[in-house]
Amino acid sequence: MNQEKKVVLASQIIDGTGGKPLEESAVLIEGSTIVKIGKKSEILKIVEHQEYDLLDYTGFVLIPGMVDCHTHHNGFGDGRLGDEVAEIPDEILTIKSSSNARIALFSGVTTIRENGPKNMTMFRLRDAIKNGIEIGPRMNLCGRPVSIIGGHMGYFGGEVTGEFEVTRFVRSLIKEGADYIKITQTGGTTRTSFPLLPAFNMDELLAITNEAKKFGKLTATHCVSTEGTINSLDSGVDMIIHSVFKEPDGTDKFRPDVAERLAESEAFVNPTLHVFRARAWEMEKLALKRPLSKNEIKLFDEHRRNFDQRLLDCSKMMEMGVKVITGSDSSWGDYKLGNTIHETECVNMAGYSVSQSFNSVTLGAAKALGMDDIVGSLEAGKKADMVVIKGNPLQEIGNLRNIHEVIFDGNIIDRGSKDSNKVYIQSPPSIN
Ligand SMILES: [Zn+2]
Repeated sequence: MNQEKKVVLASQIIDGTGGKPLEESAVLIEGSTIVKIGKKSEILKIVEHQEYDLLDYTGFVLIPGMVDCHTHHNGFGDGRLGDEVAEIPDEILTIKSSSNARIALFSGVTTIRENGPKNMTMFRLRDAIKNGIEIGPRMNLCGRPVSIIGGHMGYFGGEVTGEFEVTRFVRSLIKEGADYIKITQTGGTTRTSFPLLPAFNMDELLAITNEAKKFGKLTATHCVSTEGTINSLDSGVDMIIHSVFKEPDGTDKFRPDVAERLAESEAFVNPTLHVFRARAWEMEKLALKRPLSKNEIKLFDEHRRNFDQRLLDCSKMMEMGVKVITGSDSSWGDYKLGNTIHETECVNMAGYSVSQSFNSVTLGAAKALGMDDIVGSLEAGKKADMVVIKGNPLQEIGNLRNIHEVIFDGNIIDRGSKDSNKVYIQSPPSIN
């Protein structure tokens, strides 16, 4: 273990605990751990007669490494469906996941929760990173998503039926190294699934959540209709993903009673707003190149309507006190990894203040993953994951994309050339 000391200076340090930016301050790192944050003079006094590296970022802002609660490292973000991704051999998906992991890290995301890859691909990648073969963020993994036969993402290798099989499967996932259990409690874009219907019966869902709890593992459910969210609340799920308010007949209907239950529960909600907007952006970009067909115009309107509806429902949830966090859902659909900030901006648009939005991608997100003891803020004893950015994100949340340097586990990440992030940045249609 490298016990080398580093002192990090910056014009402002935002430690992520909710206070004002610290001026004239410094962070002392020993190996991979933050030892102390204090006044610059005080920290320099501590190391006065010792050997240390001075990382001077005067003119910049130092923030905690960002946490994205929802990624799909197997994905391409080029519009293809999960059904198509599932047909790609595991080896190729592992390579793709590896490049996605680099991109995420380069964009300042130092912790990710992967939301369901194919087979063992992400466990393999994490092993490769552990062995120093590759680099990537800290990973909170689920292995395969738990799905009913034909259910959402069942194609990734986790289709099970009945209390016996689900219990057995949860134990297998934990044996393989799962940090949490992802359940698809409604259908989704998966061709054979039913988005408006609940997936598991309650006895099955309770068997999954109880088994996970027994081993101290958190659970998260994918829910694109209200019934799924209700089932999740009834079974004590820790994170509701999407939390779309849709009735069994497909109509949009915000349910204050369900939102109230969400607010009162311990559960976090990951609303995945930008993934809807990303679709609309792509259609808009296409429209700038050529006239859209009648069918495409219809789809375009539908995507925009969907996004507006989700934004509205999310702001209502926020007003009621639901714990909303940033989870990008990239690289799903048209949303590419490396652009987590788009989701944080959407959370801001939905009604979170700039500091609440910042919290949703740092300490709040770390809490949602049960990882706030090691990441999410700059505090003594935590991992030395930090990002150097240009501009104060508490004034303008978009400053989170102005990455100058990424420090992960106490080490500066070599991100290649200054322009290396240009290859993965997705801009709104007007800028393109
Ligand atoms: Zn997802």
